[in-house]
Amino acid sequence: MRAALGFVAVAAVLLGGSAPARAASADIVIQAGHQGRPASCAPNHVHACNIGASNGADREIRWTPIVADAAAATLRAAGYRVVRRPADYPDHDRARVYIAIHFDGAEPACASGTSVGFPATTPHAFIAAWERAYVPAVPFRFVGENISTNEEHYYGFHKVDAPYKMLVEYGEITCPAQAAWLRPRLRQLGALTAKFAMGYLH
Ligand SMILES: [Zn+2]
Repeated sequence: MRAALGFVAVAAVLLGGSAPARAASADIVIQAGHQGRPASCAPNHVHACNIGASNGADREIRWTPIVADAAAATLRAAGYRVVRRPADYPDHDRARVYIAIHFDGAEPACASGTSVGFPATTPHAFIAAWERAYVPAVPFRFVGENISTNEEHYYGFHKVDAPYKMLVEYGEITCPAQAAWLRPRLRQLGALTAKFAMGYLH
């Protein structure tokens, strides 16, 4: 039986197959928060169909794909294999790094800023390095790590096997001053995120 199992394992590698029916393997998975909702919720059995924060003029669901696409383009231009995901999808991925892109909403406005979420399996040094890269680059405050159960127990963390996973809230879209600063810089945020991630893709 050992020989037979060994053959199956070799065949699986040669054929590029694996146990989950639709697993994707890549260097990095980039998820644009809320993208594709609400249409994607019912087919994917998502009951808490959160479509993201808005300030009226700007919507988080429109901003996250811009950041995600810029990050993916930067990484692909450097030769990395990128899986680019919307909010809801049936697949399970395997990668080195997983980054979920979000903007926060707060009540009252401007009570929040930038923050980061991550599961217990992600080394804190990765999170600390992100904070050193991003927080000094923005003119608003760092709110903290895993500031909500939505950050620490983000559903997307369970859809990928990766040693480094994080959810970034780049800023608070419901705060006019933060939105005004973020709005013209969405592609730059993506490029910055990509360059940070490259340090973990060796
Ligand atoms: Zn969000």
